[in-house]
Amino acid sequence: MAKVLVLNASYEPLNITSWQRAVVLLIKGKAEQVEHNGKMVYNNFPLPTVIRLRHYVVTPYKEIPLTRRNILHRDGHSCQYCGYTGDELTLDHVIPKSRGGGETWENIVTACVRCNVKKGNRTPKEANMPLRQTPRRPISSLYFEVTKHVRTGTHQEWRKYVIGA
Ligand SMILES: [Zn+2]
Repeated sequence: MAKVLVLNASYEPLNITSWQRAVVLLIKGKAEQVEHNGKMVYNNFPLPTVIRLRHYVVTPYKEIPLTRRNILHRDGHSCQYCGYTGDELTLDHVIPKSRGGGETWENIVTACVRCNVKKGNRTPKEANMPLRQTPRRPISSLYFEVTKHVRTGTHQEWRKYVIGA
């Protein structure tokens, strides 16, 4: 079912909600419509896809779980050593576990089977296999969720509200 991107009063993405909840916020005057897809919920009431709150809301930082799915998404489903994209993707510890490398966003990257085997129990430097980008913890969990929707093509119209999506 259609989801709606909720922007803060500052135009920063705040969360993703159902269209029903978005309609309630609009009717109560707590939000204004920013984008709609042309479909009508009621007479002269277009189905929103992006709304903006009238008052600024302060939100706490939410942790993003360190999962295989999330690591693959961060790395754009591509091997961080050779750029391969396909089904044969694994997770690689940049500093091998046996040598003290941790289970962290900074130490786990997407790697194809070939690169993972080739690198073996070495660091990228020892293996002469530099990483294409430095692995980092994603900054915002919402940003992370929004980019997933944009990349799968379900909500292209959200793209302009998320830098780099
Ligand atoms: Zn590779």
